[in-house]
Amino acid sequence: MCGIVGAVAQRDIAEILIEGLRRLEYRGYDSAGLAVVDSQGHMARVRRVGKVQKLAEAVEAEPLTGGTGIAHTRWATHGEPSEANAHPHVSEYVSVVHNGIIENHEPLREILMERGYRFVSETDTEVIAHLVHWELQQGGSLLDVVQRVIPQLRGAYGTVVMDSRDPGVLVAARSGSPLVIGRGMGENFIASDQLALLPVTRRFQFLEEGDVVEVTRRSVTIFDKQGNPAMRPEIESQVQYDAGDKGAYRHYMQKEIYEQPQAIKNTLAGRFSHGQIDLSELGPQADDMLARVQHVQIIACGTSYHSGMVARYWFESLAGVPCDVEIASEFRYRKSAVRPGSLIITLSQSGETADTLAALRLSKELGYLGSLAVCNVAGSSLVRESDLALMTKAGTEIGVASTKAFTTQLTVLLMLVARLGHLKGMNESIEHEIVHALQALPARIEQMLSLDKSIEPLAEGFSDKHHALFLGRGDQYPIAMEGALKLKEISYIHAEAYAAGELKHGPLALIDADMPVIVVAPNNELLEKLKSNIEEVRARGGLLYVFADQDAGFSDSEGMKIIPLPHVEEIVAPIFYTVPLQLLAYHVALIKGTDVDQPRNLAKSVTVE
Ligand code: GLU
Repeated sequence: MCGIVGAVAQRDIAEILIEGLRRLEYRGYDSAGLAVVDSQGHMARVRRVGKVQKLAEAVEAEPLTGGTGIAHTRWATHGEPSEANAHPHVSEYVSVVHNGIIENHEPLREILMERGYRFVSETDTEVIAHLVHWELQQGGSLLDVVQRVIPQLRGAYGTVVMDSRDPGVLVAARSGSPLVIGRGMGENFIASDQLALLPVTRRFQFLEEGDVVEVTRRSVTIFDKQGNPAMRPEIESQVQYDAGDKGAYRHYMQKEIYEQPQAIKNTLAGRFSHGQIDLSELGPQADDMLARVQHVQIIACGTSYHSGMVARYWFESLAGVPCDVEIASEFRYRKSAVRPGSLIITLSQSGETADTLAALRLSKELGYLGSLAVCNVAGSSLVRESDLALMTKAGTEIGVASTKAFTTQLTVLLMLVARLGHLKGMNESIEHEIVHALQALPARIEQMLSLDKSIEPLAEGFSDKHHALFLGRGDQYPIAMEGALKLKEISYIHAEAYAAGELKHGPLALIDADMPVIVVAPNNELLEKLKSNIEEVRARGGLLYVFADQDAGFSDSEGMKIIPLPHVEEIVAPIFYTVPLQLLAYHVALIKGTDVDQPRNLAKSVTVE
């Protein structure tokens, strides 16, 4: 969601800013802009609605010179996507880019209007530009002024400010949205994500909550929340920007679906020893903490919430540990009662999901035993702020609709269940079963992907449909939810998921020939129950697509299309059955002609509340 790039250098930096924005494109945005100041203090600004490419073309047509600049991809929260609302916002010599929301922008706007400021956009951001301008007139450096402005702002945000009268200085503040400083040789950079800066540096300093930083070519001076000078460690980034090329694939999402066997292999690598799960990477204290866990509270949003839902079945049935799962935006705003010995587990691909981070921070005041993050981005806020972290090794995920991040999250969660179970005296044979199933998984998913050609033609049946229903039971119920989410995200077809046993409590009323019903049906102890639910749909003229174990005893018939899938180890069946639903959603989106990788209105990592 929304991106920031800033640079202070001797060379012209417009190209660097634009390349940085390109690398943040996958997060989803609706407009983009940049402002550059040259050594004479002349500021030029270009903004465009739509893709970064349009901005790049505009800059190519009229090149910008100057070594200090800020750039932004906007995901509108206040005011429609338009050129006037695109960032940077300007107040005479001040320009500002901003991620997130200023909650008290209305009263601030009134105060500023009384002071004579004229607003030219509908954004909340513009108040920052005018506030900084006003404070500069009261005196002090840009740094002093930003430090005076921050306490006047409410909300979660990251911002970078530039004063064209003082070229060569950027001041940034982190208050709820991530910012990272990139250190160069005689030049320095700022971004909302290190990926944006990998072409220019690998040396990074992550700002902490409440930090304000002054960046010049030769110096980076950081102050903490209290205004005291602060040291933030410099790290050498190992992150690979491996998403660059789609290769033979039409979309990043398709590429990422196909990368799942390798992503899972990478996630498993180095995490077994002597036929057991080995999570010694968690450090020597971790086992002590895990051994004391009596309850697990999972917190997540969106797709990650669905992996948490699957993990709940595993924690309880395999490790015998009670588990609850809650949506972060609900958890953070209610008074919850903490179970004794409860471990909080947060799940987030980016590790910057605003609601999940807020929930983690809240949990620290509530008396949890500790916190563990499952995340795909090393060095992210969630990882840094949790007691323990387990990384998924999915590689960069560009498609907004998550695929490989989901299946690798499930992989890591199952390993954690095994480890926790081991410490809690779980039967050894169950651990062996988990190890065996996990090791077989990459090859199973390869097998699944080879059925893509048989899934593709099913998409035709959805081309004129407006609704779809997904059904599953047990640990396949969250997979049905994830299948429905994928379909709505990228094909814009309204899709709902139900636990199949709930059909007759309401949704059966919706069944007719216009409502495709997608069922996930592994060959497990719930199969007979599921078959009855399928009959309930058939009896009412519903149109069924059943993704079924080849030995489950289904065959094609009137109104029922069977997609036979190879048999898979029962424990990992939720991971396996995810894949055909991803492929189905993808093919339906192709037919619908939607923007598969950047679906409308959506952003990749949701850094605003
Ligand atoms: N709230 C600001 C706006 O609507 C910033 C949105 C963003 O994070 O891109 O312009």
